[in-house]
Formats: sequence, structure tokens, C-alpha cells
Amino acid sequence: MTLANIPPAPELPGARHLHSGKVRDLYEVTEGPHVGKLLMVASDRLSIFDFVLATTIPDKGEILTRMSLWWFEQLLPLVPNHVISASDVPEAVRGRAVICERLDMFAVECVARGYLTGSGLLDYRATGEVCGIALPEGLDDGSRLPEAIFTPATKADLGDHDENVSFDAVEATVGAERAEQLREITLDVYARAEQIAREQGILLADTKFEFGLVPGPASGGRGDVILADEVLTPDSSRYWPADDWQPGRAQPSYDKQIVRNWALSAESGWDSASGEAPPALPPEVVERTRSRYIEAYERLTGERF
Ligand code: ATP
Ligand code: MG
Repeated sequence: MTLANIPPAPELPGARHLHSGKVRDLYEVTEGPHVGKLLMVASDRLSIFDFVLATTIPDKGEILTRMSLWWFEQLLPLVPNHVISASDVPEAVRGRAVICERLDMFAVECVARGYLTGSGLLDYRATGEVCGIALPEGLDDGSRLPEAIFTPATKADLGDHDENVSFDAVEATVGAERAEQLREITLDVYARAEQIAREQGILLADTKFEFGLVPGPASGGRGDVILADEVLTPDSSRYWPADDWQPGRAQPSYDKQIVRNWALSAESGWDSASGEAPPALPPEVVERTRSRYIEAYERLTGERF
């Protein structure tokens, strides 16, 4: 349904392009000590309503890369991750690239939700459940759930929406034991991250993880499961300022809210039903969005960008 107009990935020395998503470009390392590993490069692209915008947000790739690396480290006591190096990368992408272990990925988007919104809210309103999990009556947009839930989704092709699935469907895809491990790790990691964020005045409403296995023989235990992709960035998570949280309406968020609001406003002149991408962003919207990402990074990590 979507037209994601992704620009061609830049050529990088010592790397071969494999794949581009809406925001990141993926390469295989072809030279040096990390031959055969993955090089994941975060661009400054931004997507809303499944469109990749023509306007980029300066430093977004670097901010999100640093945030992801920071989180990987915080989570090390709970789960190993795929990061090999953020420094042995081509000069042109330094700061927004990470060399990672190449894993056999589980074909499941592992989503944890502590609050109800987005596709979870839509499902709840239609059925009273999310991914087969029955929830109490009377919940609203932004309500905190009685306990965090595992709401897996299947990965859609570029341009399609991910589809929420039941736990049974995950078992059918990866086997009962791995499914249970994915659920456990997802909820453990979410609980820890939610606590860390809350201490900084930020609510982690929901987030998506992806996991994989090192190819080859494995023990079958939970320790085999490696946290991959990007983690706990505003692109994979909903972060809300705790002070402004008020169930019963859409929450202001630490991500693309500014851009979404502008695109839907009369000022943009964009018709969301047109099937066309939103127009270029005014500089003021770009700057406010950039500041928002920096604010989220600095608040969470306590570090200056
Ligand atoms: P979207 O823009 O909707 O996210 P996408 O998922 O295809 O589309 P990216 O997220 O940029 O685009 O692509 C990254 C890809 O790399 C994903 O398919 C992800 O599952 C995969 N991946 C992440 N980490 C690893 C890893 N360590 N080993 C192998 N594949 C990985
Ligand atoms: Mg992705």
C-alpha cells in the first residue's frame, strides 16, 4: 500500500550493500578484521504514516545509533547482543554505524506493551484482546496495563503494516520452547528499560525487539538468544514524557509527533488520503524534531549529545 521512496544506499569502502529499510542501510563487511559481519548504518531519514520523507533530520542517525548502543550496554546483565564494534566502521558513516554479528533472525517482531495505544488499542477496541490476551474493560488510549504484555507481530514486507499475532502463532513459527524464551526475554528487558526510563521521567509505552541465533549448533537454552537490530530508539519504541501522560487521548511523544501533527495540519497542505507522500518539511519543523530526539537521548542517558 505504501510508496516508500528510499534513496539508493551510498557506496562504502570495504562493504557490500545488502538491503535498505525505511531508515537504515544494511551492508556486509568485505574487508578487514570483520569480514562477513554486518554493517548497519542509520540514516537521517524519517518515516511517517509509512512514507519515507524527502526531508531528513540532521543527526538523527547518530542520535539513534548512540541511544541504541547505550541501551545494549544497560541490558547486558539480561541479554547478550549482536554488537561487535562501533568504531571499526567506514569513515563516511562513523557515529551512525555499527558492525554486528550476523545472526539467523527469528521471524517475529517481539513487542512488549506496558500501555495501550496504536495497533494494540485498535485490536482491544475491536475484540477486547491484544494478540489473544484478554484485557480488562474500560481501558482507553494511553491507559497503563495491569501488567506488561507480550504482543508479537509478524514482519511485513516493505510498505505493509506488521500484523499482530497470537502466542500460538509464534510457537508455530519458532517452536514452543523458543517462543517461551522470546516472551520471557522480551518482558524482562522491557521491565528493566521501563524502569530506567521512568527514573528519568519518561514512560516507555511499548517497544519492539528482534532476536536471533548465532548460526550453528546451539544449546537450546535462553542464553543462545541474542538481542539484535536496534533497541529502544524512538523508531522502535513509544516514549512519552511522564509529566504529560493523561489517558483518554493521544499522548505527546518523543518521536515523530511534531512531524505527524504538522503533516496533518492545514499548513502542510497535504491530503492524507491522497496516497502521496507528505511535502518537504519546513526548517522550523526539522529543527524542533531534531531537538526532540536530542532531548530524549540526553534525558535517558544523562549524557550530552
Ligand atoms: P523497516 O524500515 O520497516 O524497519 P526493514 O526491517 O526491512 O524495514 P531495517 O530495519 O532497516 O529494514 O532492516 C534491518 C534488517 O536487518 C531487518 O530485517 C532485521 O531483522 C535485520 N537484522 C537486524 N540485526 C540483524 C543481525 N544481527 N543479523 C541479521 N539480520 C539482522
Ligand atoms: Mg526493521
